[in-house]
Order: sequence, then C-alpha cells, then structure tokens
Amino acid sequence: MVDGLVHAAHAVGAELYAGARVERVAGGGVAMADGAWWPGDVTLLALSPVEASALVPDAASLAVEASEARPARANTLDLALSRVPDGANDFAIGIDSLFYISLHSKSAKLAPGPGGVVHVAKYLPVGEAPGTDAVAELERVADLVMPGWRALEVKRQELRGMVVANALPRWDRKRAGVCVKDSPGLFVAGDWVGDEGMIADAAAASAVEAAMAVQGWLKRGASRAA
Ligand SMILES: Cc1cc2nc3c(=O)[nH]c(=O)nc-3n(C[C@H](O)[C@H](O)[C@H](O)COP(=O)(O)OP(=O)(O)OC[C@H]3O[C@@H](n4cnc5c(N)ncnc54)[C@H](O)[C@@H]3O)c2cc1C
Repeated sequence: MVDGLVHAAHAVGAELYAGARVERVAGGGVAMADGAWWPGDVTLLALSPVEASALVPDAASLAVEASEARPARANTLDLALSRVPDGANDFAIGIDSLFYISLHSKSAKLAPGPGGVVHVAKYLPVGEAPGTDAVAELERVADLVMPGWRALEVKRQELRGMVVANALPRWDRKRAGVCVKDSPGLFVAGDWVGDEGMIADAAAASAVEAAMAVQGWLKRGASRAA
C-alpha cells in the first residue's frame, strides 16, 4: 500500500520528504526537525488533532478539537502460525468484554503455504492505560477461540495502547471541517475530520475533500493575484 502510494505521488510530480518530523508550521511554510524549510502557500496536516494543534498553537479552533477529542485505543496481538489449528473458529467478538479475534489470512493472502495470521484485540475504555497483563489477556482469548495455537506460533507482534481512532464520534458535536477557519491556508484531514465514514474511510474521505478545498483555495489565490 505504501509503495503504491509513493508511486502514485511521484507519477503526478509530487516531491516526498521523509526522515524528519515536522517541527513547526508557520505562515508560508513548514519547518522540519532537521532544519529544512519547505515554503508553500497552503499546508494540509494529516495528523491527530493533538499533533496538529501542537504544530499550530495560534489556531484556537484546533486547540478546541485537541481538547475535545477522546481517542479510542486498543492492545493488540498479531500471531503468525505455521498452520491454523484443527477445529479453530475464524472470528469472534466479545459481548460481555471488549475483545475481538479474527483469522485475517482467511480473507487475504498474508502467510505462505498453510500458514495463518490471527489478529486479537482488546479495546480500552477512554483514558485507561494498558494493564501489565495486556498480552496474557489477549492470549487467553486465542485459547478460547483457537485452542492449540500456542504450539503452532512462528512469530508475534504485541502492541499496547495503539490509537485506533483519534476521536470517537460524539452525538453532541460535529467533526472538524477540512478548512481551519481561523488559520487561512491551513487544512486538515484524518479520521477525526469531515462528515463521511469512520476510521480509515473517514481519513480517506477527508483527504479527498481537503485536496479539493486546497485546489479551490489555490485557484482563488491565482485569480486574486491576476
Ligand atoms: C490496531 C488497529 C486496527 C485498526 N483497524 C482498522 C480497520 O479494520 N478498519 C479501519 O478502517 N481502520 C482501522 N484502524 C484505524 C486506522 O488505522 C486509522 O483510522 C487511520 O490510520 C487514521 O489515519 P490518519 O491519516 O488520520 O492518521 P495516522 O494513520 O495516525 O497518520 C498520522 C501520521 O502522522 C505522523 N506524524 C505525527 N506527527 C508528525 C510530525 N510532527 N511530523 C511528521 N509526521 C508526523 C504519524 O507518525 C502518523 O504516521 C485501525 C487502527 C489500529 C491501531
């Protein structure tokens, strides 16, 4: 996916700069942590509201988004198995607890030969830090749903407190728009932005909307200059 995106960007003439984080966004450009300065008429931030607000502290509307955001976090365990255990279930979701487990390799080619890739996750209540038994909890879910997996483990990835969504949807407030109203020429995209979709769908939909808004902004700038 990443290689495909890089290829598509290069194909339309985009220049990509990796290896240094953005340190500051100021009128007319972006300052990188390695000292580079990228001038530009427009900036589009595809970051969490907290990260975006930290880069543009003068934008009061971004500070509000950052303080109102309630991120959804999860502990996760990815298991690569030499094969799927006999009699294993391929999906389960907790009703009385916040777990889910899925044999991802059933719907995509993720492992060689008879190998299986299993994803186990537990969502954390807002504000709760991962417990010391985070991984053992996930292993117990796999024991219940796919008994026999332990003898077949080839590789694993354990992640604690990953941000799944930067801001849980709220009934009492709309998500942020792509144009940062109190900072002309600044735009945002991400899973906390725009009216369409959830999580990755929302990130993609707001990215398209933001790109169109940027085009409109640049066109208006060109006609003002003319
Ligand atoms: C375990 C897990 C499972 C998930 N499963 C699903 C799923 O099944 N379906 C689904 O739709 N979504 C899923 N998601 C959610 C999905 O990954 C997110 O909604 C999506 O990645 C959000 O995209 P984004 O562009 O808004 O932000 P991110 O993907 O968070 O991208 C922001 C990027 O900005 C970078 N960054 C931050 N600060 C700076 C800086 N100063 N300078 C430069 N770069 C910076 C970060 O390193 C990061 O790479 C899952 C997430 C997790 C963690």
